[in-house]
Amino acid sequence: MALVEMRQVSKTYSTGDENVPALRNLSLQIDAEEFVALIGPSGSGKSTLLSVLGVLNPPDRGEVIIDGFDVYRLSLERRADFRSAYLGFVFQELYLLSHLNALENVLLPQVILKRPLREQHQKAYAALEAVGLKGKEKRFPRQLSGGEQGRVALARAIVNHPPLLLADEPTGSLDSKTGEGIMELLRELNRQGQTIVMVTHNADNLRYVSRTLELRDGELRREDFAAEKPGMGSSV
Ligand code: ADP
Repeated sequence: MALVEMRQVSKTYSTGDENVPALRNLSLQIDAEEFVALIGPSGSGKSTLLSVLGVLNPPDRGEVIIDGFDVYRLSLERRADFRSAYLGFVFQELYLLSHLNALENVLLPQVILKRPLREQHQKAYAALEAVGLKGKEKRFPRQLSGGEQGRVALARAIVNHPPLLLADEPTGSLDSKTGEGIMELLRELNRQGQTIVMVTHNADNLRYVSRTLELRDGELRREDFAAEKPGMGSSV
């Protein structure tokens, strides 16, 4: 069974008297351990698709099934629990809290899950080590480089071992070399089994992913599988 299945999902935004279709009858499946890039021109629906997958933006029609849960049929409270347990988010803006050090920033998502303190600390240290920040746990964001701040945001996203990591332009605010470091880290996490869906404008990032989905006007326009996956051609 696919980890994620979207079935005939439509989303239209209403602004005053105008209706803006953002997703049109879109269906897709994502298997566990895939690394998927979402590309397409500005306004094609990428952010909407990511927020619908992130259980943050209910579609008007269609179903979103993640690990067997029809997520928009869950109550609002259970949706929030589902997000905490199943999803990790990384945004271009990072959203690190400047008055908290790296460790405390990474502890945040666990506080919500109310795990025992000792376990929270162990997991936060492990997540920071996994992103190459061992020894820098007590530094505040301003004492870290842009790339290191990106790594803290990534550690915070993976600290609860979410089945699905959603990344919106994770290299968008970084210079190309630092961005490559983050992409290499995402690829390494993916090789260890982390399923990732990433929105990107940067064509250089596509060499790290296993599948690229191209959106156009809220529809899937094209799908490309990475060359090293034998037997899988281009389709759609
Ligand atoms: P992308 O991420 O590919 O740039 P978006 O998903 O942000 O695309 O937008 C898809 C379409 O929906 C665009 O026409 C955009 O203007 C519109 N849109 C996105 N969010 C909103 C919103 N909150 N209110 C109204 N229209 C929106």
